[in-house]
Amino acid sequence: MRPSVFITRKLPEKMVAPLREKFEVRMWDSDVSAVRRSILKEEISQVDALWTVVSDCIDSELLEAAEQLKVIVNMGVGFNNIDTGAAKEKGIIVTNTPDVLTETTADLAFALLLATARRLNRAERELRHGGWLSWTPMGFTGMDVGGKTLGIIGMGRIGEAVMRRARGFNMRVLYHNRSQKEEVEQKYGCEYVTLDQLLERADHVVILAPFTEETAGMIGQRELGLMKKTATLISMSRGGIVDEEALYEALNDEIIWGAGLDVWEKEPVSKHHPLLTLPNVTALPHIGSATVETREAMMRMNAEAIVDVLEGREPNNRVV
Ligand code: NAP
Repeated sequence: MRPSVFITRKLPEKMVAPLREKFEVRMWDSDVSAVRRSILKEEISQVDALWTVVSDCIDSELLEAAEQLKVIVNMGVGFNNIDTGAAKEKGIIVTNTPDVLTETTADLAFALLLATARRLNRAERELRHGGWLSWTPMGFTGMDVGGKTLGIIGMGRIGEAVMRRARGFNMRVLYHNRSQKEEVEQKYGCEYVTLDQLLERADHVVILAPFTEETAGMIGQRELGLMKKTATLISMSRGGIVDEEALYEALNDEIIWGAGLDVWEKEPVSKHHPLLTLPNVTALPHIGSATVETREAMMRMNAEAIVDVLEGREPNNRVV
């Protein structure tokens, strides 16, 4: 019997082919919907390797069903969707896909920042709907990005990559992180501040910290109230870091200028989500790493990790 693999999303066949040569591979067969929990549970009970994406919730109840599972390869750098404690207890290795998505995600963070500050979505929507009647001095005005102060919460790989882009826009950079990064400060001239100082001083704030017990709900009503009325908030890492109800109130009451959201408390987001009714929100469906090159690199990384573990080698990018 060859070892078996279950993949929770439909992948391009060329990415799966190397795995099929060595293992029995089963794959969820839909491009649009996520795998059903009952099927996931059944597969987890039977396979040697599981390939997940960041919106698959792999909790302790599912892991309880695992009988011969040796590795979970998560297609993403964040791995808060997996109960890594429960995996570790069962001796299941978990890997992720860092680095290969850093520059692509930083590009998207910067694109979202520009789009939100300049309200591109609103301008385009109005143009398409016949709302561009004449050039007016204050029509479609936004907030400047170049030359302003950027606050980065979570100065890790992607945070640094966003900072490098900000330098090209002649921005001053403040950051808040668990640990102070003196080398980064010396190299790029950024300034380490407390979270409150960052929120008070920054013209634009980008969230790039992972979702953990510590960061859950980190940006709520009090924190939004510290921000400038002209400031934008870009939520790039995980939705649960921002309290969406408090954000709705802050945007509706014009406590802040705008928000750019790539990630959400609960994904996928319903089209009836209250934040989608606001004109000062730029909304994206979790596409930080979504380029062909980067997604293929992430897939290669996941495939390599499966081969390594099932052939008895230590994989790269092990998180537990
Ligand atoms: P990383 O290199 O691990 O950086 C995360 C940074 O956050 C680290 O510098 C860490 O500080 C800091 N941090 C941790 N807890 C914190 C806290 N409580 N307060 C402030 N800072 C804190 O990770 P990365 O590769 O840059 O990725 C960051 C996150 O982006 C991922 O976890 C993922 O959720 C998200 N992401 C989203 C997309 C998307 O499609 N939107 C794509 C890729 C990644 P220390 O170094 O001191 O621990």
